[in-house]
Amino acid sequence: MVQMEGETVANSSQSDRSANDGDEAPVPGLYVVATPIGNLGDISHRALKILETVDVIACEDTRTSLKLLNRYGIRRPLLAYHEHNAVRMAPKLLAKLKDGAAIALISDAGTPLISDPGYRLVEQAQEAGLPVVSVPGPCAFVAALSICGLPTDKVLFLGFAPPKQGARQRFVEPYAGLDATLALYESPNRIAAALRDYAAVLGPRQAAVCRELTKTHEEVRRGDLEALANAYERQEEAVKGEIVLVIGPPDAKEAEEGVMDDALRRALREMTVKEAAQAVAFMTGEKKRTVYQRALALKAAMDGS
Ligand code: SAM
Repeated sequence: MVQMEGETVANSSQSDRSANDGDEAPVPGLYVVATPIGNLGDISHRALKILETVDVIACEDTRTSLKLLNRYGIRRPLLAYHEHNAVRMAPKLLAKLKDGAAIALISDAGTPLISDPGYRLVEQAQEAGLPVVSVPGPCAFVAALSICGLPTDKVLFLGFAPPKQGARQRFVEPYAGLDATLALYESPNRIAAALRDYAAVLGPRQAAVCRELTKTHEEVRRGDLEALANAYERQEEAVKGEIVLVIGPPDAKEAEEGVMDDALRRALREMTVKEAAQAVAFMTGEKKRTVYQRALALKAAMDGS
């Protein structure tokens, strides 16, 4: 092999192997293991080793997890742990952990606890002083950020927004003036409506619809929110697959307007347009006339006219 200048070739003496890199049976504890979000090849060597050796694998849907485990010939006892039985199952899992069991927690896809069950179990295990070990790997919104071409220095992950228009608009309103990229999980059936709502509340921001990541039909569509909303509304065939929506930060002027809009929307829930405009103009130092015009437009949007 030809070695280039500055190139380092890994060998066993150089590689930095951690105390337990998966070649040994895991010590007792709760292993929070990330699994693929589509491409079954996206699982780490360490994750496989841990799944092969734990006493129990707690998973959301046993049928889904069996596809992954069968693919790698892993045969360990499975136990269903999902949002509907979490309260009942947590004490049982904690009792096993206290008895010295090694338990892996996995979800249907990606990293457990990220818009997936597990938070209470991890919290209770931590509180009980039991070992909780991270086995990191795929996560849909991180994968989306890595390829969408929008700023990643400050990111707010918002999970799933509510499905209905009013609630969805109110959900993002507090972040209108925030100087950060927003990442959301969204259903393909609602992507057009969601983009339209975010365009109305957040203004003209760059965004990316990241669909079917790591799968055959992986796609990133970039554009401003309104253009993307138009494109999905016009699209005749149904949108399919899983989606991460990434919305870039506002520019400085938009951020200021976002703060003003946010204050106006809150004021308009309690006050008349005139009162809201006066209060917000006083608070922000903006011209009364500018704020009044904006308050009228926001009021019309809030009333759905
Ligand atoms: N725990 C997972 C993670 O680490 O990303 C997320 C679980 S959440 C219940 C499922 C949502 O994640 C989907 O509805 C979709 O919004 C997003 N998602 C999961 N896999 C995806 C993929 N391959 N491409 C795009 N989005 C995906």
